[in-house]
Amino acid sequence: MEFRKVITEAQLQSPLTGFEKEAQPLEYRFDPLTNMPCRINMRRAQRVRQAEVRGVDTGGFVTRTRRDCFFCPENIDRSTPLLPESIFGVGRITEGECVLFPNLFPFAEYHAVARITREHYLELDQYTEEMIGDNLKACQGWMLKAYEYDPEARYPMYNWNLMPPSAASIVHPHAQALLDKRPTPYLRLLLEKSRDYCTETGRNYWSELVSEERRLGERFIAENDSLSLIASFAPQGNREILIIFKGIASLSDLDEKGRMDFAAAILGILSAYKEMGVSSFNLSTFSGPIGEKLPYYSLNAKFISRPPVQPFYTSDSGFMERFQYESIIETIPERVAEMVRERF
Ligand SMILES: [Zn+2]
Repeated sequence: MEFRKVITEAQLQSPLTGFEKEAQPLEYRFDPLTNMPCRINMRRAQRVRQAEVRGVDTGGFVTRTRRDCFFCPENIDRSTPLLPESIFGVGRITEGECVLFPNLFPFAEYHAVARITREHYLELDQYTEEMIGDNLKACQGWMLKAYEYDPEARYPMYNWNLMPPSAASIVHPHAQALLDKRPTPYLRLLLEKSRDYCTETGRNYWSELVSEERRLGERFIAENDSLSLIASFAPQGNREILIIFKGIASLSDLDEKGRMDFAAAILGILSAYKEMGVSSFNLSTFSGPIGEKLPYYSLNAKFISRPPVQPFYTSDSGFMERFQYESIIETIPERVAEMVRERF
């Protein structure tokens, strides 16, 4: 296993230092499994962002969106869609504070939204293990019902987009569960590379990665009975945390203990993110298919932070674009051609 990086620098004469010669340190890093590159320049954190408004009142924004919120307790029954009872036996799945219903604007045949809490807004240190454990349980129950009905749909995914910079259109905290008939491009890459790694070495890449990171100690964070946490060597986003589960390849194989340990890991990350000043993030899982034992693969999940919350803007890049490398499009290309053609 190789943690490959190329350390170099970019030279310039900056107006910030009276046009003195300057060399900015630059790292190209390559993911040890996929070889996907990323570039790190820590100085970029200092750059001026012209579009950012200072001193924005997040409280006002939360209060404004609280009125008529679809997911708040007084509205949820009349504002959210129902599951087909023929498949799920119920219109909505409830588990503690979680209410699960179909996404009103789905991008998968099986695409559910699972409200996490009754509260319209929570600070990142106000979530509880019970809330998240219940949410995972409801999503898992939904996935298994959908799979039972349609066994070709066997790739489950559990996701959070939290707050508008992460592409959440609704402020009220909610998770999204998907069940697909084919893996997303990034998941396919992970599955193929993990299988190749095992063919070549006879070992599970993910267990090896955890042992190696634990030995090095530079990026290893913590572990519990069910999973380990590390900061990714070559991340897909800022403040990326990778969760690697022990002994299971699919979300469907998480048992009660596994769900609660996952919930505890999520809480720890949220609390650390709050400490770092993060208010928006994405979470996505990379799961093997339901019903298949894959000795070469381990269920894993990733968190990345997103820019600070700003009013009047919702990003169009969520977990699908940032993690799964599959774009969700809401404009028809043929109509785009029609409209641009008029100018030619
Ligand atoms: Zn709400």
